Amino acid sequence: MRAGMCEHLSSLQRPRSHALTPSSLGCEECLQSGDAWVQLRLCMTCGHVGCCDSSPNKHATRHFHATRHPVAKAFEPGEDWAWCYVDEELVEAIPAFPAESPRTHYAAHPRGFPSP
Ligand SMILES: [Zn+2]
Ligand SMILES: [Zn+2]
Ligand SMILES: [Zn+2]
Repeated sequence: MRAGMCEHLSSLQRPRSHALTPSSLGCEECLQSGDAWVQLRLCMTCGHVGCCDSSPNKHATRHFHATRHPVAKAFEPGEDWAWCYVDEELVEAIPAFPAESPRTHYAAHPRGFPSP
């Protein structure tokens, strides 16, 4: 990792006044299409929740390409690392409000897959 941190990630190290509201408790697009995901990412610009690059649809990365919102944070229990798509830089943790760090993994319930 480089010594300096990019402007997007360093701005997120400073205290923020408002928590983001996650757009959904699961990947927004996959919930609509009935697809599965592996892990979730939270857009630190607008609160969009999308699936990670290990998921078939990679909606978090697609959200970046569609919106140019630079940073996504892990939206998984105990994970507060953040990734800047613009600079391809990772920080191990950014300060997060409770609403931005789920206590549980939101699992996919794809079509045809029995819900518990
Ligand atoms: Zn950046
Ligand atoms: Zn997805
Ligand atoms: Zn966004």
